[in-house]
Amino acid sequence: MDGKCRFCQGGVARSKSGLKVKLVGEWRTYGTKSERDVTFVVVPRCPTCKRAHLRVKVLEAIGGVCGIAVSIPVIMRIGHSGMADFPKVVLIILALCLITGMGAFFGQAIGESLLPRGVVYKSAIEKYPPIVSLIEQGWDFEHWGGP
Ligand SMILES: [Zn+2]
Repeated sequence: MDGKCRFCQGGVARSKSGLKVKLVGEWRTYGTKSERDVTFVVVPRCPTCKRAHLRVKVLEAIGGVCGIAVSIPVIMRIGHSGMADFPKVVLIILALCLITGMGAFFGQAIGESLLPRGVVYKSAIEKYPPIVSLIEQGWDFEHWGGP
């Protein structure tokens, strides 16, 4: 699958550098369980962009870990408040998701801002024609905010 890299100008895509994007479709029910259709699209990418994107992923993970560290004192405070157990647990889960998510978001934003000039990340995924047509058919990225 050699061709033009979708993330930069002039990079030559290599099959082992391609970015595999997971898309989910309709919910289907089989007897008592439901699952979603899953499909993968490989976006052509060159080895240089793959390395640059990996840095974004690493920073996103670091951001998430920092978020967890920040949320611990918040959770301790909720834990020690005089609240009943049920809203307490809900609040703790919400705080954890929110703060970790924000950490990951900022880590990713910093990572994207450090991409080499002319290299894009998510915008190229969203514009890749095979993905665009799947989205039009009702498929969606697995996580909110893209892959
Ligand atoms: Zn490239």
